Amino acid sequence: MREKDSTVSVRFVKGVGAVRERLLNRLNIRTVQDLLLYFPRRYEDRRGLTPLNSLEPGSTVSLIVRLVTMEKHRTLRAGLTLTRALFTDGRDFVHAVWFNRRGLERILTPGKEVALYGLVERRYGQMQVTNPEFEVLDEGEDPDSVGHIVPVYPLTLGLQQRWFRKLVRSCLEAEEFRPAEHLPAHICSKYNFPPLSDAVFEMHYPSAGAPWKAARDRLAFDEFFTLQVGLALRRGERSRLAEKAPLLPREGELKKRFLSDVIPYPLTSAQRRVVGEISSDLAQEIPMHRLLQGDVGSGKTVIAVLALLQAVEGGFQGAFMAPTEILAQQHFYRLSSYLTPLGVSVELLVGSLSSRDRQDALQRIERGEAHVVVGTHALFSDPVSFHKLALAVIDEQHRFGVLQKNALRNKGTQEGQAPHVLVMTATPIPRTLTLSVYGDLTVSIIDEMPPGRLPTKTWWLRKKETHRLWPFLRERHSEGEKMYWVCPLIEESESLAVASATERYEQICSIFPDIRAGLLHGQLPQEEKEATMRKFTAGEIDLLVATTVIEVGVDVSEATVMVVEDAHRFGLSQLHQLRGRVGRDGRQGYCILLGDPTTRGGVQRLKVMCATTDGFKIAEADLKLRGPGEVCGVRQHGITDFRVADLLKDRALLELARREAFDLVAEDPYLSQEPELYSHVLQTVGKYLDLAGIA
Ligand code: ADP
Ligand code: MG
Repeated sequence: MREKDSTVSVRFVKGVGAVRERLLNRLNIRTVQDLLLYFPRRYEDRRGLTPLNSLEPGSTVSLIVRLVTMEKHRTLRAGLTLTRALFTDGRDFVHAVWFNRRGLERILTPGKEVALYGLVERRYGQMQVTNPEFEVLDEGEDPDSVGHIVPVYPLTLGLQQRWFRKLVRSCLEAEEFRPAEHLPAHICSKYNFPPLSDAVFEMHYPSAGAPWKAARDRLAFDEFFTLQVGLALRRGERSRLAEKAPLLPREGELKKRFLSDVIPYPLTSAQRRVVGEISSDLAQEIPMHRLLQGDVGSGKTVIAVLALLQAVEGGFQGAFMAPTEILAQQHFYRLSSYLTPLGVSVELLVGSLSSRDRQDALQRIERGEAHVVVGTHALFSDPVSFHKLALAVIDEQHRFGVLQKNALRNKGTQEGQAPHVLVMTATPIPRTLTLSVYGDLTVSIIDEMPPGRLPTKTWWLRKKETHRLWPFLRERHSEGEKMYWVCPLIEESESLAVASATERYEQICSIFPDIRAGLLHGQLPQEEKEATMRKFTAGEIDLLVATTVIEVGVDVSEATVMVVEDAHRFGLSQLHQLRGRVGRDGRQGYCILLGDPTTRGGVQRLKVMCATTDGFKIAEADLKLRGPGEVCGVRQHGITDFRVADLLKDRALLELARREAFDLVAEDPYLSQEPELYSHVLQTVGKYLDLAGIA
């Protein structure tokens, strides 16, 4: 009953009318529960205030002062205004200055008591607080504003801290809104967690020190735990569906011949280990759900091929899904060259096939004449029906389709059967993220590169220095090496992107008449794109100017140079992928990043790229710069949008939560002993995880 009450709309709380409700909704606050879980961005310690005569330059302070005089803003130069005010604590004085904030004089009038929060600087021999956040304190109205640690919330225009604080306070104090506990009692006592309602109160009104830390840890644990319980339930649901996958023979003639006759190198020990893990999964009836993680160039394709061969060996079909059409093409050529000699037939199924070719392909797939089918997500669209599908390999590279995988489930074979699934990714996702997003998959990691790989040398050049590249390119060309020149996709206008790629291509043709250059962009007809790609792969093109269509997975072993134009426009993982295209087969690779970044983030990314080639370090940096939701492309699913928990800092808590969650579900698979937890999990993550709800 109580729990119901906190899901009441904020509209029904005293003081919230239609206008403020709309503003609250903008912050994703719809219910009282949302409000209670909307935590402060920071706190201001207004218990012991800094006296003005002891301000230290360089420190951030919280002051309660009275306004003496306020100047109207002045324009310093175009686009820059300055507003100055003088404050006193009754004895000493301090200036505050704001840049580009107009109209302050209407809010701040002399005599008002104001809380200031900001950086102290010494300017022209005087102390000043620069661009402080402020709050006007009307006497008597808000006893919470002074003498306490005060919460400061991330609010939107039109909502005042003071009003919001009062709203939260009133809901915190209302008995009927008290959040109901959902963590199992044994866990709370084991870790000494405060009850949920106390923890929530503490987050808004901290008593400083240890209790706050305990409250925060409890809430972070709680978020991880909820997600992990959801993942554990999903794993349980899956195994209860009792779907069976085909039993595929561990050893076989095809695999043996592939290893001895087709590839010219031995597998690395990491590849052998992973192949072992996969092939024993495939030899079982429980459908495999495995994530294969391996940096760009670590050799995931041969592993996929071996798994597909195991399916074919068992008399079944395999599917290989690539994220883009170009990549599907690439994989198709590569897989054909590997498999045709073994008598295994490979089919390509992409959107651009003529309807005639498409019909034929669909028929061969349905009749089982196509052993391995390569395609885009079109593979799992409705009209495609496999004869006997045993394995789906999904090459997601750095994109995640958390939900897509389910589309596959029903593509299987007969009733009650499901294919094995292998998801491959090149993004070395930090373990914390893997656990959160893919926590119910088993993970294989290739942690070793094929031998003889040299770290790619990376430089960052300003665009006006582009000409310095010409002698370098000539030299690489004279060594018979191949080059990529990547032009950015310009989101606002594709034709602009095409124009700039074309211009660059023409410039290169005129500077180097002896270099055979090729041009590739999205507006070319499909056949032309294919032909260009084929020529580049066959060594008939020396330098390929392209928009990002070549982003992932392309494999041309003579390629040693990767030039990325406007590199600061690319994300870190994209740059890492691009760089991974060169320096294969033991050749020295070079990556030149051309760009004039205008943001700090852009500079940071280019610096990270120059500093390391380690995919894990790059992924961690990416996580720091962009946040987990963006990194995994799961933002829209919201899975990693934690309120309190931090995937980088709370790793230990995550591991703990995961263990506890899986133990709990192992003991009580339907959570019949924990009804509050069960409904909390369904309510919070059920939708993301596609949990059926097994009540
Ligand atoms: P990715 O993991 O990025 O998909 P690929 O499967 O495209 O990597 O492999 C990258 C390159 O490494 C390919 O040219 C492939 O032939 C080569 N390769 C894969 N495994 C080995 C190995 N064990 N020894 C040497 N080269 C290998
Ligand atoms: Mg690949």
